[in-house]
Amino acid sequence: MIKKILNSFLDSLYVKGIKCAACGRELTNRDSVFCDLCKRQIKFIENFCEVCGTPIDSGFYCFNCKNHIRFFDKNRAAVEYYGTIKNLILKYKFNNEQYLCDPLAKLLLKAYDLLDEKADFIVPVPSVEKRIKQRGFDHTLKLAKSFSNLTSIKMDNKILKRVSEIKPQIESHRAERIKNIKQVFKAEKINGQNIILIDDVITTGATLNECAKALKDGGANKVYAVTVAATKYKIVFETSSEMSEAANIFAD
Ligand SMILES: [Zn+2]
Ligand SMILES: [Zn+2]
Repeated sequence: MIKKILNSFLDSLYVKGIKCAACGRELTNRDSVFCDLCKRQIKFIENFCEVCGTPIDSGFYCFNCKNHIRFFDKNRAAVEYYGTIKNLILKYKFNNEQYLCDPLAKLLLKAYDLLDEKADFIVPVPSVEKRIKQRGFDHTLKLAKSFSNLTSIKMDNKILKRVSEIKPQIESHRAERIKNIKQVFKAEKINGQNIILIDDVITTGATLNECAKALKDGGANKVYAVTVAATKYKIVFETSSEMSEAANIFAD
């Protein structure tokens, strides 16, 4: 299964040409998609946190899952957010290279294989309206559509919404302010269904957590997630990565 997915990921990137799909360097082996250097920089995730699916060196849970409440039941990611894959994701997301969507969705299939759960429908992590306009397309919606085509699981992109850009309320009580900040996502009423969230990358899992919380508040039963890539957690960056993830929820 994994080998089949990997081959189909490579096939979908293969253009009868002579250039590496990631870096554009000329290829010496014309049957290949990536140059040797880029090939070596693809790291499939083998040891991962039981909950969030991010790569870990030992044990069952990552630092974040040990220390935070998780509202999503399980996430799985295919590859490390590093090197070649990071390159492809950045090109897809920020350079409007939309042809990369299908190959990246093939990697979601690998994550789905690792997830090994059934769901009633899939939901893309809602993008910020302003970013969609800047980029010219909604990158998670497009990924979710492609994943829906590959798996035949229907997609619902209306059920979860970003409710607000944060409105600072100077006069409001501190606890009330924190509540306001936390309510970035809101879900329509759900009748106990199981859902798979779709995102490109998981870092600390803060975004998926807020989405899952909103979906469960709305009445979802299980909330799973699949992401193309995951960053390897480094304890030394704990504070800054958590801060940037928190910033991402509002700005991404
Ligand atoms: Zn290359
Ligand atoms: Zn974890």
